[in-house]
Amino acid sequence: GDFPIETDTLVIGSGPGGYVAAIRAAQTGQKVTIVEKNVLGGVCLNVGCIPSKALISVGHRFEQAKHSDDMGIIASDVKLDFSKAQAFKDSVVKKLTGGVEGLLKGNKVEIVQGEAYFVDAHSVRIINGESAQTYTFNNVIIATGSRPVEIPTFKFSDRVLNSTGALSLQEVPGKLVVIGGGYIGTELGSAYANLGSQVTIIEGGKDILAGFEKQMTQIVKKGLKKKGVEMEVNASAKGVEETENGVVVTYEVGGEEKKVEADYVLVTVGRRPNTDEMGLAEIGVEFGERGLINVDKQCRTNIPNIYAIGDIVAGPQLAHKASYEGKVAAEAIAGEKSIVDYLAIPAVCFTDPEMATVGYNEDEAKAEGIEYTAAKFPFAANGRALALNQTEGFVKLVARKEDGLLIGAQIVGAGASDMIAEMGLAIEGGMTAEDIALTIHAHPTLGEITMEAAEVLLGNPIHIV
Ligand code: FAD
Repeated sequence: GDFPIETDTLVIGSGPGGYVAAIRAAQTGQKVTIVEKNVLGGVCLNVGCIPSKALISVGHRFEQAKHSDDMGIIASDVKLDFSKAQAFKDSVVKKLTGGVEGLLKGNKVEIVQGEAYFVDAHSVRIINGESAQTYTFNNVIIATGSRPVEIPTFKFSDRVLNSTGALSLQEVPGKLVVIGGGYIGTELGSAYANLGSQVTIIEGGKDILAGFEKQMTQIVKKGLKKKGVEMEVNASAKGVEETENGVVVTYEVGGEEKKVEADYVLVTVGRRPNTDEMGLAEIGVEFGERGLINVDKQCRTNIPNIYAIGDIVAGPQLAHKASYEGKVAAEAIAGEKSIVDYLAIPAVCFTDPEMATVGYNEDEAKAEGIEYTAAKFPFAANGRALALNQTEGFVKLVARKEDGLLIGAQIVGAGASDMIAEMGLAIEGGMTAEDIALTIHAHPTLGEITMEAAEVLLGNPIHIV
């Protein structure tokens, strides 16, 4: 056997949950070791949020360059050098993952390469190729993230892609089929449509982007149709046949079997938590449904020195949620009273236009039995949106009826991903619709839409009758 190495706090996984937890733990004076079996930064930085947003922004620029003739821009023969676009994406990823390494080292966090397996509640074996090392710890934060679900009839290959494969294609597919119209499939489908692919989304449920309000997804769907994206809903994907240089996907819709030929098929039907290969059940960690680990409001499992955060616990599988829980867990270990409160966690979908939501939407308020008032203001009545030539969309505010306390906001339109931050702050700060209406917003900005939605809610808007 080896000589065990001791540490105060061990963090397993270095995604947005793990690396943030490690830094916060170090800031509170803990001696911290982080173990990563793959590369620093996890899914988010390497094969998730960041590379997808880099390709999405390339798609936007390309699409805008081609279609700005109504603003007097006649750009003929606009070309795409996709290998250069991929190199751009890779450079963004490299900067950020390098940054994470620097931050960990700067906070004196020990970085260990390898895969962790639990021996008991106070030790793990870290396997790296042929070598193995035991680490003992007082506390451990598990942040091992998730992986794409593989359906047996769609085994991943060079042509049958998961999101990672779709992000590293070396060519823009002429034709791309996307199975699963969740936010990952729709974002990537939308990006490739902007880059020139003919895209078909096959969704099993009755609509794509089911997590968002219909009023919002209608606008996104209109945008997708304008790009030529076809959407088949209530459709079940049956199987795929690989041909010499492509695929034939079979699916069933309305009792009818259909086939579609494509260069590639992207399968985005959900993500499974990485909780099954670490010996957690063997040491008595309790699981909830679908392989998620049960935790309390401090992200503590049933075993008091074992914490779990991010995609492996209940809640939205989002990077900022993982980071937030990482801070709470690290602070809890330090004896602080931090607890999670999910009300003001935003969710963003980087489609065209973007969608963002925070707090309750109307349906959720209804379901909770909250008496509310809601009000909308359209982008089309805002000077900045007109000047940007991006007039699709609205801001909607949801406020408690009795006192106007803001409990939710939904934004669809250009810049929604950034605009939602102000609404998160307002909810977190316990502000009312009147507080938002009384806040002076610079003119002309998209932020004014939010102020005017608050005035609609109060019954005295200036720029709409
Ligand atoms: P992960 O980021 O999955 O990191 C887990 C790490 O643990 C990995 O590096 C893994 O190698 C390591 N690991 C696993 N097991 C072990 C072990 N036994 N020993 C050592 N190391 C181990 N979220 C957003 O908020 N915004 C977005 O725009 C967004 N876009 C996305 C786009 C795509 C295409 C995808 C796939 C995801 C996207 N997400 C987005 C989701 C986001 O990436 C995840 O919610 C986030 O990465 C979860 O963070 P995490 O720390 O829980 O785990």
